[in-house]
Amino acid sequence: MLKTKILVTYGPAISRKTVLREVLKHADTVRINFSHMNEEYWLDAMKSVKACAASLGKEVALLADLPGPKIRIAKLDSPIEVKRGETVKFSSEPRKGCVEVMYRALASESKKGMIIDIGDGNAQFKVVEVKEKEVVCRALNNGVVSSRKGVSIMGATLNLDVPTKRDLELARFAKSNGFDFVAVSYVRSAEEIIKVREMAGDLAVIAKIETTDALRNLDGIVRYSDGIMVARGDLSMQVRLEHLPEAQRRIVNASRLQGKPVIVATQLLTSMLQNPTPTRAEANDIANAIMQGADCLMLSDETIIGKYPVAAVRFLAKSAAVAERFAVHDNHIHPKISSVSKAIAFAAADLADEYKTDCIFVPTRRGATAKTISALRPHTQIIALVSDKRVERSLGIYYGIRAHEIKHYSTMDQMWANVNSVAKKLMMKNYLVVSGSPNLSGNTDTLKYVER
Ligand code: PEP
Repeated sequence: MLKTKILVTYGPAISRKTVLREVLKHADTVRINFSHMNEEYWLDAMKSVKACAASLGKEVALLADLPGPKIRIAKLDSPIEVKRGETVKFSSEPRKGCVEVMYRALASESKKGMIIDIGDGNAQFKVVEVKEKEVVCRALNNGVVSSRKGVSIMGATLNLDVPTKRDLELARFAKSNGFDFVAVSYVRSAEEIIKVREMAGDLAVIAKIETTDALRNLDGIVRYSDGIMVARGDLSMQVRLEHLPEAQRRIVNASRLQGKPVIVATQLLTSMLQNPTPTRAEANDIANAIMQGADCLMLSDETIIGKYPVAAVRFLAKSAAVAERFAVHDNHIHPKISSVSKAIAFAAADLADEYKTDCIFVPTRRGATAKTISALRPHTQIIALVSDKRVERSLGIYYGIRAHEIKHYSTMDQMWANVNSVAKKLMMKNYLVVSGSPNLSGNTDTLKYVER
């Protein structure tokens, strides 16, 4: 059983039924990026994912990725080709001889020496002079500046609202249309997560860490989020590339310390956009993310526009399975014991390692105890016994948990009948059962060792 969870991003590369089916065989969660297209497209995408998952007899969770604020180039008459070394002027208002950027604070937040990136690396500029409403730059490469392209001012603290009004509307849209997770882009503080949570109801809220402010406020953001994403694409527009590995490690550690699931995203298999096999460095990147303690790995462009989406997801699953075998996770990085349920979860993780059990069964109403045990990284698999498909999907980003559907139960006898029948079916010889009163959630109070 693969412990690492796999998240793929929906896009044209996987929209054909036969391709989607192959991809979903390996995916636990699908991200739909609300930065592109519209409500009709997202609902269609969602419908195809659900239908395809049903045909495979599995639950696949859906993650709505909110667009957040984005600085963009204004509408241009035609794309502008720039040559390395050329001088280009940007302005926050329409001005002769300047490229207009739709951001009022452009000049006040740009400083000499900063790098301005357009279209995720398509064209990069160094700021050489800042005037009142004009930023004079030198092109660092040959590139093209075209209409509506995204603009990143590396290292600047941006004066933009997060979440935007549109984000809040879309969080409500995600909630009322049955998504399982909502991801907040360009988050900078815990307060911004709280605002999204107010709209997102019971959806799990994921903070995308992609700004230097988020790195500064990391612990608070982790505390108020249900999960964290290392959004390496945009993060590398804010921290210099040589600092990205350090930032990734910090984010993974901060999440693990508080027992929150962490997703490592972007450019895991970029070479597979064009090639059927990955590079050596990509194979290493995947294994390193798992060894660091990532719960979940995410493909973006590979499954949006890549030529080899199926090969990419297959390779991700195959290499994760190997990496898990030699990954040693620090079992001491874990949340503090603050309840009986947590104490039992800790005891279960320790006992499972000590007795080398085949698995830990967790009959669960909401999945909370299974998630706590996942954060402790026992060597054995955690099997959550669930009778609610929504709870099953909520596990779609947590390391080491697989869900098994059982009949709804309301007495201890029925619960044990369920456990015994699954244990028999899966041919488990020695296992732990972590449980609580059948009609209550959040009251885990029993740990039992079973040997057959
Ligand atoms: C990222 O920046 O790495 C990311 C996952 O976000 P997006 O795909 O929305 O740019």
